Amino acid sequence: MGQSEDCIFPIEDALEMILIFDKTGKISYANAIARQKLEYKEDVYDKYISDVFPNTFKNCEDGFETDYLFGHEPQNLVAYRKNLTCFPVEARIMNSSMNADIYICMANDILEKEFLSREIEQVKQEAQQAMKVKSEFVANVTHELRTPVNGVLGNVRELLSEKRDARLERSLHLIERCCDDMNKIINNILDFSKLEAGKFSLEPRRFHFRNMLNYMKENHINKITEKGLGFFMTVSPKIPEYIIADELRIVQILNNLVSNAQKFTSLGKITVEVLKTAQVNDRIELFFIVSDTGIGIEKTDRDKLFQSFSQVDASISRKYGGTGLGLNICKQLVELMGGRIEVESEKDRGSTFSFSIWVGLCEGEDNVSLLSDIKEESFISTSPTAISMDEERQEAENIRRYGTPENIENLKKNLSKLILCVELENWEKAEMFMDTIKQLTEGAPPEVSRLVLRLKMAIQKENYDKVIVGYEALNNCL
Ligand code: ADP
Repeated sequence: MGQSEDCIFPIEDALEMILIFDKTGKISYANAIARQKLEYKEDVYDKYISDVFPNTFKNCEDGFETDYLFGHEPQNLVAYRKNLTCFPVEARIMNSSMNADIYICMANDILEKEFLSREIEQVKQEAQQAMKVKSEFVANVTHELRTPVNGVLGNVRELLSEKRDARLERSLHLIERCCDDMNKIINNILDFSKLEAGKFSLEPRRFHFRNMLNYMKENHINKITEKGLGFFMTVSPKIPEYIIADELRIVQILNNLVSNAQKFTSLGKITVEVLKTAQVNDRIELFFIVSDTGIGIEKTDRDKLFQSFSQVDASISRKYGGTGLGLNICKQLVELMGGRIEVESEKDRGSTFSFSIWVGLCEGEDNVSLLSDIKEESFISTSPTAISMDEERQEAENIRRYGTPENIENLKKNLSKLILCVELENWEKAEMFMDTIKQLTEGAPPEVSRLVLRLKMAIQKENYDKVIVGYEALNNCL
């Protein structure tokens, strides 16, 4: 009778291979799966543990020799079958708690697991290689695209410097703007692929912090005031005049946040605030807050914002343009600078993006700014005249709802841009300008609202003649 039949262990049918051997190394029990895997039958009971694990156990006079560390910790061993072929196992071998002369070995065949993990490793390497090739390709293509775009831009600017008739000049300005937009997209893709490929490095150097902010403001102020929006910037006096950081990348983050704020706001204001929030030796933490009173973002959409290629919805991207890469790049840049970026927002009430970064202080320089807070305002205001409280209130309400004479001036500017788009048959862009015009004239007198509606419908129908009539009527009315 076979010894396995004598055994009444419930482990006979266990899925794990179980071998029991004595201090001489002789096997006294092997469960069904162990016999099957090792390809033994009853003859397993003539065998020693050194036959199963010859690399780990050696027979000797007093039994066996091994440097195996007995215990519950699993170790990878090589198990040999009867026909001397082998396979990897994860084994735990320990003394029986009832009899110190008895050893129990529990082992799992990990051939499949190893095979799978090798396959996963291979797939991972192939994916990484493909990713690298893709990133290199994207980097090369975008780099190559820059040259022709800059060529067009250079020539357009040269033409613009000469005297041209108004219509041609408008077209040239439009081409110039298209090239600038294209450059922005190319740069975004280039940065994104470099960041993804881990090839991006910051270039910190000493620079004048407030000049950097003023430069950033200059980039946006025309578009912001054209839309009739207010712009306020406050900088804590605790921030020194000069700091060490990657100036271009800080400007890039701020440009992205402020241009989004401008893009998604048609009434109200944009504010930028910068604070010093911490200091450790010669490094300080700066905290930037960019707020707007624009369309806001639904709570459910906020998590998606910082993912690459993510825009809140397709209709938004159609209306406002963009690649959905900007905020992802901002997040990666902020994290490279040791900080984090967050958003708070309320649908239809506005959004606040805030981010922190760590920057260096300049050695041996007075690290406290001599300047007072920057408090800059570019808000379009009415010129105060002697008017009664009621009139004043009414006027304030009108301004809130409709806008000031300057706003109307901006409306006219938007209108002429719209006409330019219509002339170039760029109906999508025209629709975008029309949306801005509609928002700017919300709450306007009924005759204006009606004209706006008529103009909007003509644009949707792409009816050139009707648009021109509508435009002229609205222009006269304004
Ligand atoms: P894009 O270049 O397309 O603007 P971003 O990554 O900068 O890409 O922004 C992604 C999306 O986040 C935008 O398409 C918009 O839906 C939303 N978003 C960003 N900033 C604002 C904001 N200030 N107000 C409302 N929505 C915003």
